[in-house]
Amino acid sequence: MLPNPAILPEEAALVRIGAQAGSKEDAIRQVGQMLVAAGCVAPGYEDSMVRREGVANTFLGAGVAIPHGLGEDKGLVRRDGIAVLQLRDGVEWNPGQTAHLVVGIAANSDSHIAILRRLTRLIQDEPRLSALVASDDPHAIAAALGEDGAAPAAQAPVADLAHAAQWTVDYPAGLHARPASAWMEAARAAPAALRVRHGADCADPKSLVSLLQLGLKCGDTVTISADGPQGRAAVDQFLAAVRRLTAREKEDAARAAAKVAAAAQTTGRGWQPETALTMLAGVAASPGLAIGTVHVVAAAELSVPDEPVDLGRGGAMLDDALRRTRAQMTALIDDTTRRLGASDAAIFKAQADLLDDTDLITLTCQLMVEGHGVAWSWHQAVSRIAGQLSALGNPVLAARAADLHDVGRRVLAALDPTLATGSIDTLPEGSCILVAADLSPSDTATLDPEKVAGIATALGGPTSHSAILARTLGLPSVVAVGQDLLALSAQTKVIVDGDAGRVWLDPTPADLACAQAWIDRIAARRQAQEAERSRPAVTTDGHQVAIAANVNRPDSVPFALAEGAEGVGLMRTEFLFLERGDTPSEDEQEAIYRAMIAALGDRPLIVRALDIGGDKQVPHLDLPTEENPFLGVRGARLLLRRPDLLDPQLRALYRAAKHGGDLSIMFPMITSAWELERLRARCEEIRAELDAPAVPIGIMIEVPAAAVQAHALAQHADFFSIGTNDLTQYTLAIDRQNPELAAEADSLHPAVLRLIALTVEGAAAHGRWVGVCGGLAGDPFGAALLTGLGVTELSMTPRDIPAVKARLRAANLPDLQDLARRALAQPGAAQVRALDAPALDERAA
Ligand code: PEP
Ligand code: MG
Repeated sequence: MLPNPAILPEEAALVRIGAQAGSKEDAIRQVGQMLVAAGCVAPGYEDSMVRREGVANTFLGAGVAIPHGLGEDKGLVRRDGIAVLQLRDGVEWNPGQTAHLVVGIAANSDSHIAILRRLTRLIQDEPRLSALVASDDPHAIAAALGEDGAAPAAQAPVADLAHAAQWTVDYPAGLHARPASAWMEAARAAPAALRVRHGADCADPKSLVSLLQLGLKCGDTVTISADGPQGRAAVDQFLAAVRRLTAREKEDAARAAAKVAAAAQTTGRGWQPETALTMLAGVAASPGLAIGTVHVVAAAELSVPDEPVDLGRGGAMLDDALRRTRAQMTALIDDTTRRLGASDAAIFKAQADLLDDTDLITLTCQLMVEGHGVAWSWHQAVSRIAGQLSALGNPVLAARAADLHDVGRRVLAALDPTLATGSIDTLPEGSCILVAADLSPSDTATLDPEKVAGIATALGGPTSHSAILARTLGLPSVVAVGQDLLALSAQTKVIVDGDAGRVWLDPTPADLACAQAWIDRIAARRQAQEAERSRPAVTTDGHQVAIAANVNRPDSVPFALAEGAEGVGLMRTEFLFLERGDTPSEDEQEAIYRAMIAALGDRPLIVRALDIGGDKQVPHLDLPTEENPFLGVRGARLLLRRPDLLDPQLRALYRAAKHGGDLSIMFPMITSAWELERLRARCEEIRAELDAPAVPIGIMIEVPAAAVQAHALAQHADFFSIGTNDLTQYTLAIDRQNPELAAEADSLHPAVLRLIALTVEGAAAHGRWVGVCGGLAGDPFGAALLTGLGVTELSMTPRDIPAVKARLRAANLPDLQDLARRALAQPGAAQVRALDAPALDERAA
């Protein structure tokens, strides 16, 4: 992806002085052959360069032409490089256009853009260009191409390509990052290169930043075009992908509006101070009222030192930092999906896509090629592109600039840990009002609601990702208050009104009391709900279902308990590996398991052994790439092959068990009894070596084979926990990450329910209990059905607990069993869902 140092024609062999060409094609073939001879491209690339001239003009102007191959022939490029033909007599490129410098480009990435920028500068310096055309020194040409291209880049032509179609944006929130990343994927998959034009602005849809820079709003009309024999198909395919997103965008907008309205309703509206207070007006971003002392987070102007390194090493460093950041983002996406939901997690998915943006990488490389340090170049590239996005005056783009800064900061920290900015790591004890120029989504997602009562930012917008996350966290928030906000002194007392979008300064004691009374009323209502949450899930006829939480970190346990969890039914330990760039040691693992046990007291903790593979790839383990990772060496299969991963984890778990607590070990992705037998045997060996207590050993049921053979597995397992996410994926043969099929991947499908019934039956034959820790457990209707099917433990995202408990408390077991029987007899998931009788809902309400 990074330009090879050979991209600069430092070698005289790549610059041919005083060449002759009989025709344009002859000139193109000559530079093409120079690239072949230099090993930059495979033979045949010259033909591709010639064919490209048929579909696009590569004459830049002022006697310079830049022939290069067709996009579909990029496979012929072995490494980035350029070759220059100096034609003193010139060759006619197009009627009336004579080329004197022919710069042939071979580039796998868009790194030729850097060369283009330099050429643009040259073109504007006519005397210099003439001197180069007359020069006998290949190094003079090489040097000219290697110089900084500070002059403005050439404007992209605004013409549409041969096959064009128009489309009017009907996404309510415009082309924001999430649909833009889907556009980018569609463009990358299209059979020909596409162009998207809005008015005079053109974008390469393969670049997220380029798309976002169009600033498309709902109602804007764009022209999508492509060239070549596959052009029409490319446009049609791309348009189909673009249109498919409409329904989801509309649904998302409606859901977001409903969420804001619902939140506003629960927290109440219309608080007004009784006295005339000074007020800073902003935009309401997350409802509720909060009182606190201002804590201004300095807009840490990051000073990144410019420490040039050898280009090859710099490229490797950047690649490594990007790779580690991608892994970190995968972990963050997964964790956010499980904690806050898939739609909030999509924020980070869009951020992760920015890591692959060719403009960003190209600019960074260009700066590195110019002799700057890696971190400095990256920081510059992020700042410049984010600056361009902000300068367009479009709030959607301003929010994307914040995303770019956010993800950019992660890469910086990966490049050099001393550049990690811990802006919100030093919050004072007690509740403060966090004041900042803007808050990154990463910062917001990790805020501790115990320390922060509310948020006010000078910049940002109500649709920014930080605002969305603040709503999910229930933190009142006001954005776009303006620079005056940042001038507030650290100890100023304020009231943040997240419904009206106001920040009231220095409230009088009377106003404070009245605002406090308002907050207290709402808190009292919440507390009443919380009191209900902690009641057990006992049906009206006395059948109790154990309710647990899916929690990965000790510091998340108190929240889960507050939501009503009676234990942890699933600790996904792969996050210990995914969130960091290396493998945690046995000691480090033990410390974490002990911290989990300590946070839970006597409550049960089920730790799942590493489930690596599938969608959870850990780059630093350097596992072989698989064609179908979900069907590959995943979970237990990997553990059985990698004692270096299994043994330290088991040792850490048994060492932790020696200190008390109610620990169980669970193995993921078990398919056959022999796997469990081997893993159990290894557990016993390690337990005996450490003289540790025996702990229950259970398995996940997530492969249909395991469900069908539950009776055989139950002989060796102390309990089962059904992973409905994977069981659904494998039963219905639907990749759980495929957005196209997401609606069809319904765990309520009777085929999945039948496998659950078989699991319960097999377990019962050996007196084992069955839990569910997949997503179905957190759906109140799903929980009711599962209870009817005989599941006795449900483990879920903490936020889902109150609704599930309420649903179960309102039902009686015979009704639930009858519901389960009827569900099993249905032909499809839709008919099962239709059994979710409104009467049952009302009783639960
Ligand atoms: C599941 O598959 O349902 C499950 C709980 O495991 P994970 O989501 O971690 O694969
Ligand atoms: Mg699973």
